[in-house]
Amino acid sequence: MFADLHLHTNFSDGTYTPEELIAQAARHGFAAIALTDHDTTEGCARAQAACRAAGIEFIIGSELTAEQDGNEVHILGYFLDATNPVLIAELTRFQSVRQERIREMAARLNRLNVPLEAEAVFRLANCRSPGRPHVARALVEGGFCDSLDEAFERFLKKGRPGWVPKAKMDALTAIALIHQAGGLAVMAHPGLNRTDQVIPELVESGLDGLECYHTKHPAPTAEHYLRMAMRFNLLVTGGSDCHGLSKGKPLIGTVKLPMERVERLQAAAAARRSGGPAVSL
Ligand code: AMP
Ligand code: ZN
Ligand code: FE
Ligand code: FE
Repeated sequence: MFADLHLHTNFSDGTYTPEELIAQAARHGFAAIALTDHDTTEGCARAQAACRAAGIEFIIGSELTAEQDGNEVHILGYFLDATNPVLIAELTRFQSVRQERIREMAARLNRLNVPLEAEAVFRLANCRSPGRPHVARALVEGGFCDSLDEAFERFLKKGRPGWVPKAKMDALTAIALIHQAGGLAVMAHPGLNRTDQVIPELVESGLDGLECYHTKHPAPTAEHYLRMAMRFNLLVTGGSDCHGLSKGKPLIGTVKLPMERVERLQAAAAARRSGGPAVSL
């Protein structure tokens, strides 16, 4: 009995529809999954319905891009109340920032004599949370690049001429936002960002868990974060971060979180909901 608590669909920069993703989860025999699209929970209703039909337990989630002391950190929110007005308002604001950033990236590319239109990216993305992977796909579709890798290498990677920095919420505010929406806040793939020094500060601010298991965490990295979770008394989560097909194969199935971990998460979420007053932002 296993779970995958980090998955994306085409409601952000994944390629699967919620139904396609859940079909993959069922094929791998997952007992529970969470959908964690960037800055949105919009795909969750459909994913939840598909999970119900497939007998898979579903957790509403989202992955927020935040920063702490100048370091980019991704914060996963789980068990969110998707109808929470403050959460909806903030996610809507993040989505506008993403859309504005796409326009700015297109403008920069245009100045480099790459006539990519922002509208072409929006058409292709067909969602409210567009990101750089959509720009990369549009560059390939438009015949400006031969591959997604080339698009990132030439234009979109940090510091490349088409890259535009993203305005980010600070991580402490992201944690408070998740808490006031009834959720648990988990630091995503800490091994990717290599920002261990921010963890004590986030714990002080109520961080609930660490994503110890992740596709890009080799075993020693996972063990390092398991020890850290023990030290700070944090919940342990894990997920594949599957965005659909990646180099011909989906990542779903590469990380299998034991269900005991999910049960502890559920208990913590229930305790939070029945506990003290909501924290205001
Ligand atoms: P954004 O949130 O718009 O900055 O886009 C970040 C997403 O782009 C990440 O979730 C990755 O999936 C993807 N990404 C970032 N860097 C690369 C890269 N060098 N090659 C391919 N995909 C990348
Ligand atoms: Zn993504
Ligand atoms: Fe991430
Ligand atoms: Fe992710």
